[in-house]
Amino acid sequence: MLIRRARRAFVLVVFVAVGILPGSAFATCSSQLAVQVLGSGGPDANDARASAGYVLWIDGQARLLVDAGGGIFLRFGEAKAKFETLDAIGITHLHADHVSDLAALLKSGFFSERTRQLPIIGPSGGGDFPGMSEYMRILFDADHGAYRYLSGYLDGSGGLVKVAVTEVKTDPPGSEVVFKNDRFEVTSVGVTHGPVPALAFLVAAEGRRIAFSGDQNGHNPQFAALIKGSDILVMDHAVPEQTDEVSGHLHARPSEIGRLAAEAGIGKLILSHNMARSLSHLDENLALIREHYKGPITVAEDLMCLDL
Ligand SMILES: [Zn+2]
Repeated sequence: MLIRRARRAFVLVVFVAVGILPGSAFATCSSQLAVQVLGSGGPDANDARASAGYVLWIDGQARLLVDAGGGIFLRFGEAKAKFETLDAIGITHLHADHVSDLAALLKSGFFSERTRQLPIIGPSGGGDFPGMSEYMRILFDADHGAYRYLSGYLDGSGGLVKVAVTEVKTDPPGSEVVFKNDRFEVTSVGVTHGPVPALAFLVAAEGRRIAFSGDQNGHNPQFAALIKGSDILVMDHAVPEQTDEVSGHLHARPSEIGRLAAEAGIGKLILSHNMARSLSHLDENLALIREHYKGPITVAEDLMCLDL
């Protein structure tokens, strides 16, 4: 018993000595400018990762949330991000693994100090997908919304924070500035994610540039042009090289990720949206990427902090 206690105390001392505590290794992201990975996974629950979501931290405050897939509600709290400090939320596309926790996060904001409007930027609709504005109506419309009891998000009633939706055309896929304040600027560009209307974002803050691929097959030359010379590219790593045609139209193959990162001259490549099917080929995928891209590569983990 005594030995076990002593061993536990020793382990705790070691954790404290290297600046981490068990279970909260990545829980704070306090540098001046950083991106924190909230969810490094995709739509499969078997990879033990939250689905897509990222926070931009500026001077210790969470200022931008990119995507809000399943599990991001929990990770947002674990990261100690505050709803009231968010200047905007960007949603790359309306697949469930990128947006299903949005309503839960907005609801949590009811218990925050926030009173100012919350800008939400998302794609226009097409095919089987509503646009961002229609999606918000489906959730919160006072008469027909699934969460009609929260209709105040659309009109500011009931003590809820009104959201201001900017819907961005994905086709033709030109780039445009979709949000700007004195802290950062967001430029979007339409990307090819199979038949899904989808956006990628480039965020500029404090002289640094961070690219979020969203989900895409990496084929849009305008995306490569927009992100040229970015400090960080957070890229979807969702398929192995020998993937089927449908998945290859949805996501970039490892060789395509490598070519894109090399062509765009990316400072650091972050592989996220990891799935069991891509992680099971990780060594092979990394080798294929490195045939083209010679810079540093990090495989994202939930709550990982990427300093800039
Ligand atoms: Zn996805």
